Amino acid sequence: MSVPYKHEPFTDFTVEENRKEFQAALKKVEAELGQDFPLRIGGELVYTDDKITSENPAKKEQVVGRVSKATRDHAEQAMQAALTTFEDWKRWDPEARAEILFKAAAIIRRRKHEFSAYLVYEAGKPWNEADADTAEAIDFLEYYGRQMIELKNGIPVLSRVGENNQYGYIPLGVAVVISPWNFAFAIMAGTTVAAAVTGNTVLLKPASTTPVVAAKFMEVLEEAGMPAGVINYIPGSGSEIGDYIVDHPKTRMISFTGSREVGERIYERAAKVNKGQYWLKRVVAEMGGKDTIVVDKDADLDLAAKSIVASAFGFSGQKCSACSRAVIVEDVYDEVLEKSIALTKELSVGETINDTNMGPVNDQAAFDKIMSYIEIGKEEGRIVAGGTGDSSKGYFIQPTIVADVEADARLMQEEIFGPVVAFSKAKDFDEALDIANNTEYGLTGAVITRNRQHVEKAKTDFHVGNMYINRGCTGAIVGYHPFGGFNMSGTDSKAGGPDYLQLFLQAKTISESL
Ligand code: GLU
Repeated sequence: MSVPYKHEPFTDFTVEENRKEFQAALKKVEAELGQDFPLRIGGELVYTDDKITSENPAKKEQVVGRVSKATRDHAEQAMQAALTTFEDWKRWDPEARAEILFKAAAIIRRRKHEFSAYLVYEAGKPWNEADADTAEAIDFLEYYGRQMIELKNGIPVLSRVGENNQYGYIPLGVAVVISPWNFAFAIMAGTTVAAAVTGNTVLLKPASTTPVVAAKFMEVLEEAGMPAGVINYIPGSGSEIGDYIVDHPKTRMISFTGSREVGERIYERAAKVNKGQYWLKRVVAEMGGKDTIVVDKDADLDLAAKSIVASAFGFSGQKCSACSRAVIVEDVYDEVLEKSIALTKELSVGETINDTNMGPVNDQAAFDKIMSYIEIGKEEGRIVAGGTGDSSKGYFIQPTIVADVEADARLMQEEIFGPVVAFSKAKDFDEALDIANNTEYGLTGAVITRNRQHVEKAKTDFHVGNMYINRGCTGAIVGYHPFGGFNMSGTDSKAGGPDYLQLFLQAKTISESL
């Protein structure tokens, strides 16, 4: 691919023409909602009677689609198809595999608003968030395709006189990909194609609340020429097929993005060598976050408030990168809090077809969990914005700020994954950083400061995988901000980074005596 990688631009929704086009896509997709989607096992499209019904979280009665539900037998068939296909797929020229990704990216780019519209309905994403999710899916295809071409001939190593040494990468085998609902397109597509472009075959189990956009992606991959059996699409329940494919002796690796609880479970199960298994499974796990924006006393306070509000409430805080803690040096605490409250009160919450700032949360379970944290917040601090929710039509929760929360309170320690941010006061910048680091996670964080010494201190002492300076803590761009975190945030696999594909490969040294 001769064109260098550049990230896909976001749509400017202040331009009337763009709004019209997006509205047209929303109409078109609305008319398509409610279809049935099959499993994809080898070359077969399998329709099951038992289905997963995907609903619009903003409008519960609206069915986005019905997706066939895999049983253990289906999972086993998919494994067999993946094993057989691997023998052929691993021998493909990596460049030919990459070309399928470029073709898929081109197809999606042409139908960009259509995919974003699916995300508006299925994930309850506001327009800009849906647009960014689709752009990121395109980015992963373009970026990983190019990365594979770069790795194709391996990495040069030294040779002594009379010797020819080569160092290259080969695929692992069958990869299980378990993807999340919050970046229902981007992370699902990114983790799937990273596994495939490197020559592995895949069992894809998408999140059960957002399987339709994944089914649409399967159609694109087929159109782009992805051979049957390379990616096997098997939505299903964790208890029925999740453990089964994780435990399977022929599973070579697992790429998981989701909750810490499930991540830990997968990591533990994958550690066991089962009968018939002759490798140690590799696990890539991207889990939670408890991400902090630190505001220094010498800082642009408008920028601070803007960054906190955007990072806390974008997609209703349902990002592992979301700002759920604002730690502010006491001299400017009241001012930043006031400014943040004012910005929060401007946010509109509602059905995302109307281009609201915020939509619903994912489902009833998410709604209940977040509301229970708001109750805890009433004990641990002061609710100064939001604090209410309504799940009668969709799962809506007002953007919520809880002020004056102590560093070790539950609100400051536990991942909420919703539109709730705790504000905490620090006596100085050093203490603010200590509070920020006082977490079991370590994914993203930001500091807002004009003090250069503090910038340098944060660079070394702020223990997060993605550290941002004078900006918010969400919105990593593929190829620009490789994304992944420390400690209980996961295995620090940097998605969209230059060494990501190696996680799906094993290195082989060849040394010939001349
Ligand atoms: N990469 C996204 C960001 O930087 C977050 C991904 C996630 O929430 O899983 O905001």
